[in-house]
Amino acid sequence: MRTTMSLRGLFLAICAMLLSAALAAPKNIILMIGDGMGPDSVYAAGAYTFGNDYHLFGGKEMLTMETLRNHLYVTTFSSEGHGYDFDWTGGNWDYVKTRATDSAAAATALATGVKTYDAAIGVNPRKQPLTNIVEIAKKRGMKTGVISTVPFSHATPAGFTAHNESRNNYTALTHDMIFNVQPDVIMGAGHPDGAQAGKEYEYITKEDWEALRDGKTPYTLIQDRADFQKLIAQPQQGRVFGAFRNHFCMKYCNADRAAADPNLPTPAEMAEGTLQTLNNPNGFFVMIEGGAIDWCNHADDLNGSIGETLAFDEAIDAVIKWIARNGGWEQNLLIVTADHDTGYLNSVQPTEKGKLPNVKWGTDEKKWTSHTNRLVDVFSQGDGAALLTQIAKDAQDFERGKIRCIDNTDIFKAMDAALGLRGAQAPAGARRKAVAVAG
Ligand SMILES: [Zn+2]
Repeated sequence: MRTTMSLRGLFLAICAMLLSAALAAPKNIILMIGDGMGPDSVYAAGAYTFGNDYHLFGGKEMLTMETLRNHLYVTTFSSEGHGYDFDWTGGNWDYVKTRATDSAAAATALATGVKTYDAAIGVNPRKQPLTNIVEIAKKRGMKTGVISTVPFSHATPAGFTAHNESRNNYTALTHDMIFNVQPDVIMGAGHPDGAQAGKEYEYITKEDWEALRDGKTPYTLIQDRADFQKLIAQPQQGRVFGAFRNHFCMKYCNADRAAADPNLPTPAEMAEGTLQTLNNPNGFFVMIEGGAIDWCNHADDLNGSIGETLAFDEAIDAVIKWIARNGGWEQNLLIVTADHDTGYLNSVQPTEKGKLPNVKWGTDEKKWTSHTNRLVDVFSQGDGAALLTQIAKDAQDFERGKIRCIDNTDIFKAMDAALGLRGAQAPAGARRKAVAVAG
């Protein structure tokens, strides 16, 4: 018995050694989520930008996110879903219209590795709080942040920084974010200005807003584009709450950018300022959301969807350039994904460069304006990315063909395992956990 145990111990030690040699720990983890950005949202943005030069239509051009080294597909269903049938129940195109996840359950899965009910924020199906990746990173002495183009306590950022039985309790979520979980950077819409009368304090209570404004929280409040831009050249040491002057949603632009509001920071500016603020010797975790892609897809607004996807892609470009200046891929893990598909965008065909492509929303004359259970993309590169690719399984998908696929909970598992590889800072159990996940 004793001999068996020690041999097993030796085997595990060798596995851990081999694995840590192949998988160095990233100093920083950057997770970027295009909300509702199904693969066809990416194709539509590429078809608009490059026309027939886009790689899907005979050319070589691709969007920035598509240049990342690893590509897999992701299943997104919540605990209320019916899983994902790669055969689409014998090729039934209506199959994916039912039981799609909402953004809260999807964010909770990505942030905690646990599938839960729709509307749940950081709690399991029994409504008990779950430990999220922000809390795990904080325990390791890392800085953390969540930023979005939609309100700061909307489902995706809240799923990483709060615990509540409902995504609709916006002010309670914001309170939890500011006073309990306390990431170092929070940015988003939700500003009281510009709201309909009586809705000013929909996302943050008057009391919490005044505390934030009067410097009675651990955060410095910034509101003007110039202050967001200033973070890039002169990063702040302390915590930053960036509430740009927009109540509901940045809705940054249309495909041609004509609708962009020059008074708001761009997603790329918010991302770069955040990375600069979080940069420190112990590393950081940040979640950056392109939140309005989903809102455009709900409205079957192709022009807006392409504009928001391109603005998100520009933020990815800013992040990749920041990585090149700050330790490169050997110190940074970048993961770009979506929480689910919205709008059932499909049949994308370019017309010409700079013109909206021809598309369909859904499968029949009646357009689809909800989420779907379709697969989404995950693009990744950097130290620890192998933790994702090793989890992936081969699959034959009815819509996407022969693919490699993971589940949304695997993204948490890979990030958690990557943190577990962080040598001296890792508690004793973390390295073993990394072996279990990757193996
Ligand atoms: Zn969503």
